Amino acid sequence: MAGVPATYSSATAQIGGFLSKKPYAPPSWATHLSPMPSHTFSLGHFPTPIHKWNLPNLPEGTEVWIKRDDLSGMQLSGNKVRKLEFLMADAVAQGADCIITVGGIQSNHCRATAVAAKYLNLDCYLILRTSKLLVDKDPGLVGNLLVERLVGAHIDLVSKEEYGKIGSVALADLLKKRLLEEGRKPYVIPVGGSNSLGTWGYIEVIREIEQQIQQSADAHFDDIVVACGSGGTIAGLALGSRLSSLKAKVHAFSVCDDPEYFYDYVQGLIDGLQSGLNSHDIVSIENAKGLGYAMNTAEELKFVKDIAAATGIVLDPVYSGKAAYGLLKDMSGNPAKWKGRKILFVHTGGLLGLYDKADQLSSLAGSWRRMNLEDSISRKDGTGKMF
Ligand SMILES: *Cc1c(COP(=O)(O)O)cnc(C)c1O
Repeated sequence: MAGVPATYSSATAQIGGFLSKKPYAPPSWATHLSPMPSHTFSLGHFPTPIHKWNLPNLPEGTEVWIKRDDLSGMQLSGNKVRKLEFLMADAVAQGADCIITVGGIQSNHCRATAVAAKYLNLDCYLILRTSKLLVDKDPGLVGNLLVERLVGAHIDLVSKEEYGKIGSVALADLLKKRLLEEGRKPYVIPVGGSNSLGTWGYIEVIREIEQQIQQSADAHFDDIVVACGSGGTIAGLALGSRLSSLKAKVHAFSVCDDPEYFYDYVQGLIDGLQSGLNSHDIVSIENAKGLGYAMNTAEELKFVKDIAAATGIVLDPVYSGKAAYGLLKDMSGNPAKWKGRKILFVHTGGLLGLYDKADQLSSLAGSWRRMNLEDSISRKDGTGKMF
């Protein structure tokens, strides 16, 4: 790998590289940010591929490319693994023996954290938000829950009402206090892994994209488009894009709170890194919430199905599906804004959450039939075996 910086040479290429702790050195354009992480754990399969995405009905001359952060690992898939590389290194450095984190009942972040914790031999405690009707019942094994429960994460359920009243920070504090009383050493990761330390994960992705561009003559991107759920991903992308040579415009589509909330939240994250920048200058945030977090219109689900059938890319209806839906809607409403642009869409993962939508998707899913075996057919692979 002559000429390629050591930080880029894939840790997974080397035996023992994956899941190892390595010293962290930031990209040259980010050395003024502070605090600076000292180490990371290699948890993801990076770099993730970038390829052309032939979406239907694009404005004239517009190109969409896709960065496949959904391919960042199997159980760890999606954007959260990039944040966890930094957060887990901090947890281990602080001598933690267990991790606490919080999310919705199908949180991809909680699933990725549960897996990462077990990779590093730590216990994991998840506080999951569900409806009042379901909070006293077995949450089942659908989607992310199956993986969380297979890796032995401890699950505490709270209702949406309790979550709304108490908030994620006090809920995590309460569990932390109980674990401390038992003599444990808990480390709390906030919702979505979105604090200033986690933001480094998506500052780092900009270095990755820069290097992928360098290796492909004349490549460049005008825009980066991504879903926003807790804010860390857009904070890192927007800060990195501004500071680096990339200078692509970052467009976020929010799937839960309003844009104003996220401008403030991102401001807090980038202030926490002493960036001196204003969130309004580095990212543009649009509302793509629709019916509400993790809720979908029939049209959104049909969009996810149509894109899968047209391009083979399976979006998740909670995040990237809403972001891509919002992007294409904006393109058809404002074609001049997007005409001739070269766009990089970041697929942030979430495939496991799709299983929770199976009932709603059933009427849209592809067909099947009983195989026609009417002709007389003789066996070709030997006899006497039942199968
Ligand atoms: C969490 C998540 C997002 C949003 O990222 P944030 O950093 O929380 O804004 C997007 N897509 C998927 C699949 C996610 O799990």
